[in-house]
Amino acid sequence: MSDRNVLVINSGSSSIKFALVNESQDEFLLEGLAECIGTPEAVVNWKQNGEKKTLMLDGADHGGALAKILPHVQEAAKGQLTAIGHRVVHGGSQVHEACLLTPEVISVIEANSSLAPLHNPPGLMGIDAALKMYPDLPQVGVFDTAFHQTMPDYAYRYAIPEELYTEHHIRRYGFHGTSHMYVSRKGAEMVGKPVEDSCWLVAHLGNGCSATAVVNGESRDTTMGLTPLEGLVMGTRSGDVDPSLQMHLNRTFGYTAQEVETLLTKKSGLLGVSGLSNDMRTLIEASEKGHKNAALAIEIFCYRLAKALAALSCALPRLDGLLFTGGIGENATLIRKKTLDHMRIFNFKLDDAANQECTRGNGGKISADGHPLVMVVPTNEERQIANETLELLDAK
Ligand code: ADP
Repeated sequence: MSDRNVLVINSGSSSIKFALVNESQDEFLLEGLAECIGTPEAVVNWKQNGEKKTLMLDGADHGGALAKILPHVQEAAKGQLTAIGHRVVHGGSQVHEACLLTPEVISVIEANSSLAPLHNPPGLMGIDAALKMYPDLPQVGVFDTAFHQTMPDYAYRYAIPEELYTEHHIRRYGFHGTSHMYVSRKGAEMVGKPVEDSCWLVAHLGNGCSATAVVNGESRDTTMGLTPLEGLVMGTRSGDVDPSLQMHLNRTFGYTAQEVETLLTKKSGLLGVSGLSNDMRTLIEASEKGHKNAALAIEIFCYRLAKALAALSCALPRLDGLLFTGGIGENATLIRKKTLDHMRIFNFKLDDAANQECTRGNGGKISADGHPLVMVVPTNEERQIANETLELLDAK
């Protein structure tokens, strides 16, 4: 049983990201992205055997797009597809681990749609289409929230009246769990520590950003909360603001709830402060050329990240290391340096050459000898979803 293939599907509202993962090969057999689904521009691009391929989807919906992609998946899998693993964002308090997508689990995903309106409904479209196409294949949901279900109540409860928690499930859930789990396990493996006896701070910095304190392989606290808006500064999301901001915008300037949500989730963060871009690479280039607001966006990003990491250290009995991952964490040497410079009392110090070396998928230690360990650990959510899918089948 060491040559199984898992198709990993991550459905967005107008996109489907997919990868065909073989359990014993590092390279994916096929990986790609269908975009603009449901519009005349719908198109899928994928890579197979080092070759890039493109197919127009003629306005297909999620089902139509999958129908066009799947013959190529079958070809790459040589007909040997063992299971499908679906990324699901919000499983609420009911889901603690990967689950077979039974009607009960699907209703849990539906029930949590109000907490993740941008993510759970498109996830369900992908699940529905794949179940119709492969009714006999095991299909597994791997949830972003599941890894954080080990947080203690004093970390996941808000200081608001209890009935909002007991009756309306309002609490901190945390996201990016698949990545935080993968990276904390990989980090332990890289230094030869058993994950059951390891303590990490993990900074996942992509378009969305979150940091997690991981103790003995379990999440003990994380920066995202009820929704993926809480916590760190992100590409277009503000992260933490004074909750009264929303009332002030409404009362004083007449913003509606919808306008406040759009402001804080789509127009804030790096984009809002810089007025230029949500893309860190663009901001670094612009700030080098003297763009003041791009430079300020970078400063706020790093200071807030450092402050959050210091706060998360309260959840750790000791620190074995700080792990950077995600597009920014894996590539932006400047961001890693600036963040650590803010954490003076932790005694972090980078090995500048190693910091420069660890980009574009190269992981490893970037801290100077004699100082607390800092590593770059490239994430691999597709691999983690495939692993959890197969672990679930093996446990049956
Ligand atoms: P997503 O969360 O959508 O998966 P990624 O993890 O790919 O996103 O991260 C995207 C972010 O990573 C963008 O802000 C991008 O600018 C940044 N990034 C990628 N490469 C570099 C680089 N070489 N230097 C700085 N930032 C980078």
